[in-house]
Amino acid sequence: MSLAAACRKSSMQNFAPYNGKVLVVGAGASGLYAGYLMKARGIHFEILEASARLGGRLAQLEGFASRPLDLGASHIWGRNHLLGDYCLATKIPLQTDTLSITYWFEGQMTSSLPKDPFIFEGDNLPDISFWEYAQQQGFGEEYRWIIEAIAGREGGGAESLSVAWNAWEKRHMSGGREVYRLFQSLYEFYLLQFGLFVMDHVRFNVVVNHIDYSEAKVKVWDTAGQMYEADKVIVTVPVSVLKAGLITFEPALPNFQVEALQKIGMSACVKVLLRFSSRFYHRALWGGAICAAYYDALPDTGEAVVEALAVGAQAEALRDLGSAQSMAASVIDELDQMYSGQASALLQAYHVQDWTSEPFILGGFSYSPVGMGTARSLAAMPLDRRVYFAGEAMNLNGHHQTLHGAMETAAQALVEITQS
Ligand SMILES: Cc1cc2nc3c(=O)[nH]c(=O)nc-3n(C[C@H](O)[C@H](O)[C@H](O)COP(=O)(O)OP(=O)(O)OC[C@H]3O[C@@H](n4cnc5c(N)ncnc54)[C@H](O)[C@@H]3O)c2cc1C
Repeated sequence: MSLAAACRKSSMQNFAPYNGKVLVVGAGASGLYAGYLMKARGIHFEILEASARLGGRLAQLEGFASRPLDLGASHIWGRNHLLGDYCLATKIPLQTDTLSITYWFEGQMTSSLPKDPFIFEGDNLPDISFWEYAQQQGFGEEYRWIIEAIAGREGGGAESLSVAWNAWEKRHMSGGREVYRLFQSLYEFYLLQFGLFVMDHVRFNVVVNHIDYSEAKVKVWDTAGQMYEADKVIVTVPVSVLKAGLITFEPALPNFQVEALQKIGMSACVKVLLRFSSRFYHRALWGGAICAAYYDALPDTGEAVVEALAVGAQAEALRDLGSAQSMAASVIDELDQMYSGQASALLQAYHVQDWTSEPFILGGFSYSPVGMGTARSLAAMPLDRRVYFAGEAMNLNGHHQTLHGAMETAAQALVEITQS
């Protein structure tokens, strides 16, 4: 199977020959996939990456368990998309990961709740937060952290994620609802399949801070004063970096685009990995007040590793504790309350990954807050057909905050570049 054939046909058929030079800003999933597609087509390109490594929000922790553990993305959501097609074409097996959820509800473990809390899909839902809507539908405080877990799975906090916009995006997504894991870390998979192929085109430790597209050639500057020139530029940095104004543009971004960027949410996200001497916990547990969602991180190896995934306000509250030790102690304390002290008794090691404190990431996922409207499509508009925006937050297919969503935006940018 050739590299090109492994890419989704519809995208590849839309590529025209292109002789110009393309600069990609960022070597996360989107930037690496853009490079992969260009190298396969013989397009001249370079990738400028601020950090000293590949992957962005794909990263792994080695030496904590018998196999590396993902610190960022870990699962493939759905398979009806270009990454699913790629795995099919290259015969990479996907393991279905069916979660049976246990709830921590009114101080007890339960597998069924008095009221079904999955109420956030459908037509004509109001543009209010998940929690406000749940309250309107008669859910009381006892459901607060279960609603938080449901919102967290959509990438936002229950008090800010919009029911209307999230449902609208869900209606447009075509990837599928199943969740898959691989027989290796997602980070390792991505690096082996795409990253290493383009690594010789990546310049590391290049922090881009200015893009001048006022003339025919686009000029890109980094914080060391170095200038790079190209015909087209694809900006794949997290939306948090653009929102913070860490990259300036000449001419300046139009006001509507600046406003649109500010409307896209970027959640705080903290992942805490906890290793125990034996297993005592459920496969998935939702409803914690400190961390709404706990998962068995290694369901198939027999090792006892729990992943606590805090998003939005819960992640902010953990960050406010100030140190990795305090964050870990807080979730261990909560697990102790749920499992009668077994967490602290059996704990061997912990690791805390705070994505907001990563200087070139500044958060976990983009999400759709109340009032977001069409901000994603406005934010993603190219500048004078020379500067293109890609990355998960710019995905307009309802696949934002996913790996395949980030890849799709890279393919889309290249379709537009080669056809312009
Ligand atoms: C904890 C967590 C769990 C997740 N779980 C899943 C999951 O199970 N499944 C899934 O599909 N998705 C998941 N995601 C989302 C997924 O990881 C992202 O959607 C995807 O990796 C984003 O890729 P990207 O290329 O858009 O951005 P990034 O990966 O953030 O890449 C952007 C790159 O730009 C670089 N950069 C930033 N600023 C500059 C600058 N000024 N100059 C140069 N370079 C710069 C950054 O260093 C980074 O390498 C998860 C994310 C997190 C945080």
